[in-house]
Amino acid sequence: MKCALVTGGSRGIGRAICYKMAEMGYYVLVNYKSNAAEADKTLVQIIENGGGGELLKFDVADKTDIKKVLEGWIEANTGKYIEVLVNNAGIKDDMLMMWMKDEQWENVIKTSLDGFFYVTRMVLSDMLVRKYGRIVNVVSLSGLKGLPGQVNYSAAKAGVIGATKALAQEVGRRGITVNAVAPGFIKTDMTEGLDEKELGSMIPVKRFGTPEEVAHAVGFLASSEATYITGEILSVNGGLYS
Ligand code: NAP
Repeated sequence: MKCALVTGGSRGIGRAICYKMAEMGYYVLVNYKSNAAEADKTLVQIIENGGGGELLKFDVADKTDIKKVLEGWIEANTGKYIEVLVNNAGIKDDMLMMWMKDEQWENVIKTSLDGFFYVTRMVLSDMLVRKYGRIVNVVSLSGLKGLPGQVNYSAAKAGVIGATKALAQEVGRRGITVNAVAPGFIKTDMTEGLDEKELGSMIPVKRFGTPEEVAHAVGFLASSEATYITGEILSVNGGLYS
């Protein structure tokens, strides 16, 4: 059975990616950190739409938790194979660097950058053996451009962008592609409280994007047809930055 693992699949962009993966015929492993009720909603919707999947609760910022839960799942499910990995889980904790606390730096870096490393390394070996895999990392405009107040978040996402390009070169010959999608402003819990009217005026398409619009780009890069695209960063930002 072919599976797609989506980290941070309980809400927002990750949830829309889970639906997209199910639509593409994958058995979806919906990862989340703590919000079991929202994760359940994602899974119920997948099943109601005729798909399959299960919840996989682990903290991507905690390598011990990843090892215990994800490695445990892989060992217990020899008939299932993670063909698509979407590293989507991420947090922001904005503060001007002058006042940024150690924990604000560490938590954001751990979730995006360490999370990418420890989760990807764990699923990579199976992909290498099977000579096929799709890895899509959800990064950000902030990691391309750098945004004030987001030194931690910009650094974390820029780190994943560099890792995407490096890993793509390591595994290209084994049929594995590694790409990233860089959203701009997308309507989710993460952007709640931002003034869409004011910020939207700076965006060429004059509005925030939807999680489904990001999921569409992820689905494209995760498709078997996207064989010759690797190490690429695809912006989904309404033309805000290119
Ligand atoms: P969101 O609505 O806040 O959802 C975050 C998701 O990540 C939730 O499912 C959450 O799980 C999960 N998560 C957070 N920390 C985790 C951890 N340590 N381990 C496992 N799961 C964790 O965020 P979003 O807007 O959908 O963002 C998704 C991704 O897109 C992030 O990487 C974000 O940086 C990126 N992005 C978002 C925007 C935007 O405008 N929204 C723009 C650019 C990039 P729980 O429900 O259990 O908390």
